[in-house]
Amino acid sequence: MYAQEHPAAINRQETRPVNEASVRALQTGLAGVALLFVTLATFGPWFDYRLAFALTLGTMAVSSLGLWRADLALHSLRRHPLERGSAGVGLGILLSLISGGAAALLNGTLLLALVVIVQFPPTLAILVPTVLVLVGLHRGRHRGEQAFRASVDLSRGTAACAGCRLPIPLAEGQWRGRGWLCLPCRVAGGEG
Ligand SMILES: [Zn+2]
Repeated sequence: MYAQEHPAAINRQETRPVNEASVRALQTGLAGVALLFVTLATFGPWFDYRLAFALTLGTMAVSSLGLWRADLALHSLRRHPLERGSAGVGLGILLSLISGGAAALLNGTLLLALVVIVQFPPTLAILVPTVLVLVGLHRGRHRGEQAFRASVDLSRGTAACAGCRLPIPLAEGQWRGRGWLCLPCRVAGGEG
């Protein structure tokens, strides 16, 4: 559907569609902040320990979902060079970090994590490799997206197929797993 657009139109910000995954990431970040405000609103005469605990845990869950959705959105933006929404994702990440961090501070999760790490340093021996493995798995997803982005030619509206490496119009390629493929390569089922 992008092939019919004049190349000059692609560069005009307002003609570029908004990335839906970015909108969801921002909405979830906003929901986290809203839940944090609801939590803070109960910190008055109606303070109830169990309710506060449930609300802060809920806020942490929503902000975690927000960060996960932000990651999905960043992948989606890399895969759809004609869509916009990176500013929204950035704001979503910030809101999720603030609301999740504040909730973790309020219900003691942050303090508990610090105490556990200080009292039992071997915890880090489990935590650090786990994070590194997750980052490593994540890198695999990046590779195909980076190759795709490097091959995108916005003035011509083309990108290179991950299978045959031939430049094809953006509208004719589709993502299959970790590669962006032209129709013949999709039919062949090879990812190169
Ligand atoms: Zn191909």
